[in-house]
Amino acid sequence: MKISEIKVLVTCPGRNFVTVKIVTDAGVYGLGDATINGREQAVIACLNEHVVPCLIDRDPQDIEDIWQYLYRGVYWRRGPIGMAAIAAIDMALWDIKGKIAGLPVYQLLGGRSRKSVTLYAHANGETIDETLENAAALMDQGFKAIRLQSAIPGLPVTYGVLGEQKDYFELQGNRPLPPEEEWSTKKYYKLVVELFKKAREKFGPDVHLLHDVHSRLTPIEAARLSKLLEPYDLMFLEDACIAENQDSFKLVRNHTVTPLAIGETFNSIWDCKELIQNQWIDYIRAAATHAGGITGLRRIIDFAAIHDVKSAPHGAPD
Ligand SMILES: [Mg+2]
Repeated sequence: MKISEIKVLVTCPGRNFVTVKIVTDAGVYGLGDATINGREQAVIACLNEHVVPCLIDRDPQDIEDIWQYLYRGVYWRRGPIGMAAIAAIDMALWDIKGKIAGLPVYQLLGGRSRKSVTLYAHANGETIDETLENAAALMDQGFKAIRLQSAIPGLPVTYGVLGEQKDYFELQGNRPLPPEEEWSTKKYYKLVVELFKKAREKFGPDVHLLHDVHSRLTPIEAARLSKLLEPYDLMFLEDACIAENQDSFKLVRNHTVTPLAIGETFNSIWDCKELIQNQWIDYIRAAATHAGGITGLRRIIDFAAIHDVKSAPHGAPD
């Protein structure tokens, strides 16, 4: 069997979604997702210029060999654009393999381990009361885990509370440039602690509560926030600080037992090797779409599992 054609499809609604379609000479085809939020044109160019020409006439069943060829066979390894391109190819090849076998891909990977997965929903609000009202409505819909984000009094813009259409600011046609935001860690601490205090008072101990810092804090500030939030028993605190310097999470970890999660922008094991092997985090949030597909993400998650780090891949909208 040979790959005869690879199409890169760009479509809507609302924003660019990039889909790769690998067609074989046997008539079987596979689909993969190459969407990288806010940078779609870059990954489209990478696929068309540098990846697609490498794969014509190759056997689509050689998934591991193709992954290694695309990853190791180039001068410019890693990076979000290149790894998103590999991810889409990898997913499409697994799709083809599943179709050939007549099995869902999870059966080819060893079968299922659970019958359902926990999802968390976003409750945002301009005030704490509005955030909690929105959280209550999500719980009524059956969500058992809710991320709480609220505007910070005294600051004009807060990540995650810009409204339904503005959360992913880099995607907005009418707002093409990232906003420049004012910040106050002091005001933020006050708001977040009050938010989670009221949330526990209102909802009790059972619901899973989460919060995304969106990397706004320095490591010592993140350590302090994690400690302040301990009484409210978060499922995890997301992106407490940046992790280019992976040692930063050692500092946070050493000050708190609040579970820590990070990884939605990671694209290879090398972004999180130290975080995982030192057990500085509790959840790795890398996603198949950005971290080299099913093959790439499986490597990360298997490595995490042997260090008791759980997986919580980032959401589909990205
Ligand atoms: Mg996040």
